[in-house]
Amino acid sequence: MNYYNLKDNEEIVDFRAATIKGQGKDKGLFFPESIPPLDRQLIENLHQLSDEEIAFQCMKDFVGDEIPRNILKAIVSETVSFEIPLKKINEHIYSLELFHGPTLAFKDIGARFMSGCLSYFLKDKDKKVTVLVATSGDTGGAVAHGFYKTPGINVVILYPKNKVSPVQEKQLTALGENISALEINGSFDDCQSLVKQAFSDQEITSNVFLTSANSINVARWLPQQIYYLLALKQWQKTEKEPPVICVPSGNFGNICAGILAHVRGLPAEHFIAACNKNDSIPKYLETRELVQKETVPTLSNAMDVGNPSNFIRVSELFENRFEKIKGAVSGYSVDDEKTLETIKEVYEKYHYLLEPHSAVAYTALEQYLEENPGTKGFILGTAHPVKFPEAIEKAVKIKTEIPKSLEELMKKDKKSIEMQPDFEELKRFLLNKTKQE
Ligand SMILES: *Cc1c(COP(=O)(O)O)cnc(C)c1O
Repeated sequence: MNYYNLKDNEEIVDFRAATIKGQGKDKGLFFPESIPPLDRQLIENLHQLSDEEIAFQCMKDFVGDEIPRNILKAIVSETVSFEIPLKKINEHIYSLELFHGPTLAFKDIGARFMSGCLSYFLKDKDKKVTVLVATSGDTGGAVAHGFYKTPGINVVILYPKNKVSPVQEKQLTALGENISALEINGSFDDCQSLVKQAFSDQEITSNVFLTSANSINVARWLPQQIYYLLALKQWQKTEKEPPVICVPSGNFGNICAGILAHVRGLPAEHFIAACNKNDSIPKYLETRELVQKETVPTLSNAMDVGNPSNFIRVSELFENRFEKIKGAVSGYSVDDEKTLETIKEVYEKYHYLLEPHSAVAYTALEQYLEENPGTKGFILGTAHPVKFPEAIEKAVKIKTEIPKSLEELMKKDKKSIEMQPDFEELKRFLLNKTKQE
């Protein structure tokens, strides 16, 4: 399969190059040249197939012959090797729990698939490869775990000091080995601009083989389709009509993967983009005007994105026709106050504990279902409540329990390197690290 750059349609690359480069010229996103339809047999027989088989069928056309079948099978098996249950919250609303992976966030799925592909593509390189990534919390942990102890690959993560939750920090800093965590005395934006500067610095790029694990990488974006199929497999056991699918959205990678699966033939009644106060897309769907916005901080901080970079892919999926987008996707914006209220209400009524991101989604879906009687749907549970204890304790008087899988990690020491948001310091670090190897 080939991919073209949405900013410069002349730039066409294969899956391998798209995975290694991450993005095209002018920071353009790569997009598949054709949309391979899902086999009808597959959709009709989901209940008879294993998760591994469904994942393989979903991904094979996007990879083509660039990874041998048996290796791709191993990569997708690893990608979905934890449970992804669809839990019923009440008569109308289910939750697809995507947070039972190693870092308790849905980003594990994309990160694991990408690390499998990158490791395969880079296995014969004699030079070490450095995956450089900035994180506001969840991305860094998922990427670190995806590449932990992978031969030939170093991971360098920049995260803002005191701005990630305790569990998130442990996931970034306690692994060690080939994972380095740089604790930056600044904001997430500082981290991100340092990373961008590194990618455009001649001296660094001629000495260090840098690659990004950015969420716009096709190898992180595309495998997110898999769990929409796995959700449908479970949905069909108890429900007859196609679901309304509600996705807590920040950069819009996750929802865009769901819509891609839908365009390929996955039955869905409607999609909902659930946003917090960072509402540029809900506003766009209302007014047809896409306005650049400053990011505002909220409790659902993984969705604090002013200009969602993946929305351009959603638009491309509908041939950039506003009416078509609007026919398939609705947008809702939910503030922090309502988010906390929902966490409390759902816990008290249904004994189901939401965290802030899934609570935004729940609120939006509930509203949509009220406006459209007779419909039912599910939200995507994108993170485990334990990752956001402060918000939850504000909403309900309970302590979130650390799951067994995390106990070991929480006992380990934090290993980080403190750094000022100073590019020269980062540069010295990257060059020295390469010299030592
Ligand atoms: C990253 C993230 C999101 C947003 O996903 P996008 O693909 O960027 O829209 C939502 N919830 C959680 C918990 C996340 O970590």
